[in-house]
Parts: sequence; C-alpha cells; structure tokens
Amino acid sequence: MKIESSIVIREVGLRDGLQSIDRSMPTAHKLEWLRSAHAAGVREIEVGSFVPARLLPQLADTVELVGVARSLPGLTTSVLVPNLKGAQAALDSGADAMLLPLSASQAHSLANLRKSPDEVVGEIGRIRAARDAAGSRCLLEVGISTAFGCTIQGPVEPAEVLRLVEAVLDAGADRVGLADTVGYADPLQVTRLFERARALAGERLDCGHFHDTRGLGMANVMAAWQTGVRRFDACLGGIGGCPHAPGASGNVATEDLAYLFASMGVPTGLDLAALLALRAALARWLDGVPLHGSIARAGLPRTLRLAA
Ligand code: ZN
Repeated sequence: MKIESSIVIREVGLRDGLQSIDRSMPTAHKLEWLRSAHAAGVREIEVGSFVPARLLPQLADTVELVGVARSLPGLTTSVLVPNLKGAQAALDSGADAMLLPLSASQAHSLANLRKSPDEVVGEIGRIRAARDAAGSRCLLEVGISTAFGCTIQGPVEPAEVLRLVEAVLDAGADRVGLADTVGYADPLQVTRLFERARALAGERLDCGHFHDTRGLGMANVMAAWQTGVRRFDACLGGIGGCPHAPGASGNVATEDLAYLFASMGVPTGLDLAALLALRAALARWLDGVPLHGSIARAGLPRTLRLAA
C-alpha cells in the first residue's frame, strides 16, 4: 500500500444530494456550487441525472450544468443514467462519464427500476454498444448499490455481488464501484468484499460510495482505502439522507473526507478552507435542510499540516 498515492473525491451532491431534497435548488446556485467546487480543487463532479424531469424535477437542468462543467479546465463531468435512453442523452450532452446504478438486491432492483439485476446487465450491453456506435469516449461506470445489504430484502449475498461485478464488466462497463447507499455496511464487511471484488476486477474496481446513516461512513471509507480504492464519492455537507428516515445523515461529507486524507498526509488536491466556505454557502441555499459532518462544526485542528 502506497500511502503517498493521491486519491480522488468525486462530489456527487448536485445529483445524489439534491435528488433527495424535495425543493429544487435554483440553477444559479448549482452553477455557483459547481464553479466553487472546481475552484476548491474538485476535479470530478456528478452534476445531475438523465432521468425524466417529471420524476426528478430537481435535476431538470442537467444539460445546462453539463455544458458549464465541460468549460471548467481539468474537470471530469459525470452524470447518472438510469437506462439506454438516459445514456443517449448523456452521450449527446458531451459528459465525460456516465454512471449506471445497478442494485444487487433483487427486491430493491424490481421495486426501484422495475428490472431484475440481470435485465440491468443486459441494458449495460446495449449502452456500451450505443456508446461505441457513437464513437464517444464517455466512460461507462456501474455503481453496484445495496452491495452490503438492502432495506427491502435484508441481507445481500457477497457471492451475488461478485457475480454482478463480473457480469457488468463482461457486458462492457469500463469500471465498477460498490455502494452502500443505505448505511448498512461495517468496515470488516467492506474490507472483505472489496478485496474479493479487486481479485475479479483489478484496477477496474475503482470507486467506493458510502453513506454515514449509522455513523460508519468514514470507517468504511478507511477500510476500502486500505484495500487499494483511490476514488470515493461524497456530498458537501453530508446531504443525501434517506427520505424514509427524516434527519438521518446521508452520504459521507466531502469536507470530512478531505480532512481525513489531509490528516494522514494523503494528497487530494482539495483546499479545505475553500470547501468549508462553500459548505457555508450551501447551508444558506438550503436553509432549513440539515447538513451533516464534523469538521465544519469543530474547525480544523492547529496540528494539521496542509499538503494539498
Ligand atoms: Zn449516495
């Protein structure tokens, strides 16, 4: 394990965070968030989702956000796509990467996508074919959610997650990540599953997506990092909580993740003071929505040596 190798934190608040808040953030605030995050050193941002606007009116301005994001130097712009139709919109938009979620829980997949996990694998093959036919270089990433357990089904067998990791790569995904969107994972479970997935996927396993719903988000990031994961999703202010558990914390907070790695001397390229200033702006924009995370409340310690 090379301590000094840098890590990438992808800001997913504009999609994962905002989609769980029922009010819509004005596009002007989203653009300020996007530009300020870029100025703070963030180099990967998920700016929205190509789902029908009637389902998620909060993200209806995704095309406009991709357009602005593409003008920011060195930024990898990613979008979520639910299916082939969404992928076509992503290819048309010129996004650098598209993320397709696949739920490893059969029950969750049927309830949320009305498709079995294997039907989603079939869709990945069609998306890959469309991408190649368009001559696009847009990366196709699959995020395997409910990889550590499911609110509907309960346990999800690791063997099934690993089967799906292989299946999505065989179907043409460029890279794959494991996600605990319900905050069920524990660090030892994370270590075991990421190690086994790494043995199958090698470097194509390249993202960890954790929620802090039950306080284990940072511990799970740490466990995944120790298995070699160098890319993590996070939301500024830890937004993105479950709508069924009001007040529960959401995704791991971008600023806390930046602090975790800064405190260990692992380069992230992020400017912590700038992130905290942006979080303060986010608190104003989302007045009344609870934000989460520790470092914004406590402040940076005097012992922290900022390497960037
Ligand atoms: Zn999430």
